[in-house]
Amino acid sequence: MSTAAALSRPIELPPLPYQLGALHPMISAETLSLHYGKHHKGYVDTLNKLIVGTEFADLPLEDIVKAAWRLPEHIAIFNNAAQAWNHTFYWRSLKADGGGEPPSTLKQMMESSFGGVVACKKELVKAAVEIFGSGWAWLVEDGGVLKVIKTSNANTPLTEGQNPLLTIDVWEHAYYLDYQSRRIGYANGLLERLANWEFAADNLSKG
Ligand code: MN
Repeated sequence: MSTAAALSRPIELPPLPYQLGALHPMISAETLSLHYGKHHKGYVDTLNKLIVGTEFADLPLEDIVKAAWRLPEHIAIFNNAAQAWNHTFYWRSLKADGGGEPPSTLKQMMESSFGGVVACKKELVKAAVEIFGSGWAWLVEDGGVLKVIKTSNANTPLTEGQNPLLTIDVWEHAYYLDYQSRRIGYANGLLERLANWEFAADNLSKG
């Protein structure tokens, strides 16, 4: 083992913040097991192999994402780092018995930016459905207002100077076992029953 490999601190796969069956029936235990245990773990494991001996080896995950962005020679590192970060953020965007009324600070911003909570959720579902191929729908804070944005593949608002609040993974592995091609059913179910609005509100910039 090289000195660099011996010294470098591996990127860790954070524990799932709930049991595999916690999001049933909106997201099955089978989907969660594969999504977390194969896909998310796979991105973390691949990333750790790719960064050995590179300038990325000792950086925190978020810094790897930002540093590797748009460097063609580091596209694989970017993709795996961004996917590792996006998935951790996605798990935290969900909770058992989620949905419902957002905390008042977030609700007020939804009202000023979209006209209301319902309109904000509609924008998120529309974005989730419209993404062509694999990607992510996001609620972000940008310049003091809330926006809904779409990113393709591994791309993330972190590299755009936007503050992510909540995300929906719309890669087929996130919903295909449970919904087949009905991505709209998955997105609606997620927002109505699983969205962790307290997490989203905690992500709002302070002050
Ligand atoms: Mn995924």
